[in-house]
Amino acid sequence: MMGLMQQQPLLISTLIKHAERHHGDAAVVSRRIEGDIHRYTWSEAAARARRVANALDGMELAPSERVATLAWNGYRHLELYFGVSGSGRVLHTINPRLLPEQIAWITNHAKDSVLCFDLTFLLIVQQIHAKCRSIRHYVALCDADRLPRDTGIPGLMSYEAWIDAQSDAYEWPSFDENAASSLCYTSGTTGDPKGALYSHRSTLLHAFATALPDAMSLSARDAVLPVVPMFHVNAWGLPYSAALAGCKLVFPGPALDGKSVYELIEGERVTFAAGVPTVWQMLLNHVKEKSLRFSTLARTVIGGAACPPAMIKSFREDYGVEVLHAWGMTEMSPVGTLCTLKNRQLGLPPAEQEAVRLKQGRALFGVDMKIADRDGHELPWDGKDQGNLLVKGPWVVREYFKGAGGDPLVNGWFPTGDVATIDSDGFMQITDRSKDVIKSGGEWISSIEIENIAMAHPAVAMAACIGVKHPKWDERPIVVVVKKAGATVTREELLKFFEGKTAKWQVPDDVVFVDAIPLGSTGKMLKAGLREMLNEYCLPSLRR
Ligand code: ADP
Repeated sequence: MMGLMQQQPLLISTLIKHAERHHGDAAVVSRRIEGDIHRYTWSEAAARARRVANALDGMELAPSERVATLAWNGYRHLELYFGVSGSGRVLHTINPRLLPEQIAWITNHAKDSVLCFDLTFLLIVQQIHAKCRSIRHYVALCDADRLPRDTGIPGLMSYEAWIDAQSDAYEWPSFDENAASSLCYTSGTTGDPKGALYSHRSTLLHAFATALPDAMSLSARDAVLPVVPMFHVNAWGLPYSAALAGCKLVFPGPALDGKSVYELIEGERVTFAAGVPTVWQMLLNHVKEKSLRFSTLARTVIGGAACPPAMIKSFREDYGVEVLHAWGMTEMSPVGTLCTLKNRQLGLPPAEQEAVRLKQGRALFGVDMKIADRDGHELPWDGKDQGNLLVKGPWVVREYFKGAGGDPLVNGWFPTGDVATIDSDGFMQITDRSKDVIKSGGEWISSIEIENIAMAHPAVAMAACIGVKHPKWDERPIVVVVKKAGATVTREELLKFFEGKTAKWQVPDDVVFVDAIPLGSTGKMLKAGLREMLNEYCLPSLRR
């Protein structure tokens, strides 16, 4: 016997329809590339998204054709999120921090038909358009009177002129919820980038799950600031979950420095923000330096890289802001786990609670996870055994776009490339990426643990731990450190700082001070780049 409930596909257009009808007056505020603040409402966003859909129909774009973006977080990008996917095309967000040739490669691989870009990236588009074989239309995300002349970009038009010519009456089409909705390429630290192709169904289920109380706990009373870029895994799904919950949305545009982000948080009474640790470090530095307070910010999701314990502590204890440590990846839409305490843990002494908050957290409903040893045998959830982390669920990739890299699954599970422990309460903790873990004398040393200790030293601004070849131990850890401006600390002082904080054999063999640690296109430390930088390096014990 079948159930007798209505069949309604889970489509991205239903989110914008809901936001317009039930939260039409909620604000969407954006800092523009010109520096000024633009504000309107969800209902105006919905009307303009319908114009986008009509404009794409006008270009005779078939269902599933790709519309690419090179854009900051802002209202026009939001309209494309809904106008492109809602009308049955695929939104392909490209990370503008990639090299121009990588961007050209990606647009060709994705066979993008349209490219919409912020004028910040005009130079990139001028450099690559001749190589982008599939792109038929170029749209600059600007007013008609700001459209640059003589760019050499064929048929370049302004977004405002493009959608102004359209009606805002549009009937969102209904189709299979498994249809592709958006495309995001992994940053490709190893080999060519691979595309994760999300569906309407996966996007909606992810939005439901991330909005829940033990996840991001989004509500119509929240003002949400996605500092995480809309080109980085759909800003962790926030444009969708904010529409679902009816939140006010606040977009930072290109201004990600501490001062600009702080002003937006205070000015727009932001209650919830999300971003990678490097951005929050800039914010905390600004707030500390100027002795400021947060008057409305209550929660912040920090993920994409391990959040240093000192950051969680400072947000919580100095500023009363709850940090939700989260873990995920492009292949997971991206959220897999979030760290919110269970009732039992609220009764734990502060130090033990702190140790829990450091973990990457519990799996969302919809994500299953396990850890396995090298031979694929599942390991116990005892918080000690560490193994390769595998996941599955309706918003985890089954295969990459165009079958790149072959079948990624192992018996139906997606291997994340991360190494982790899981404790008996189900809290997962990443100890490393499998390629960064340091193998010393047959034992594994967590580079994240070493970095966390170094980062707790008051003179350290940034720390990266890498393994260096050793004839006896295979590898030994060293820690590469950027000092805070004006701070002093010696190699010996820093090594002493490790005493009692980790097992003796895990203490790094050396400290190397550098001016900067190379960062990747999503703001994460680039360990491969760092190893290259130090390829002449020799451990002190091996020097003659
Ligand atoms: P890429 O894999 O291309 O660098 P992703 O944004 O998909 O880009 O990164 C996913 C990876 O980032 C994860 O596999 C994990 O190694 C790391 N990561 C994400 N969140 C965390 C976190 N909270 N703690 C530690 N590592 C994290």
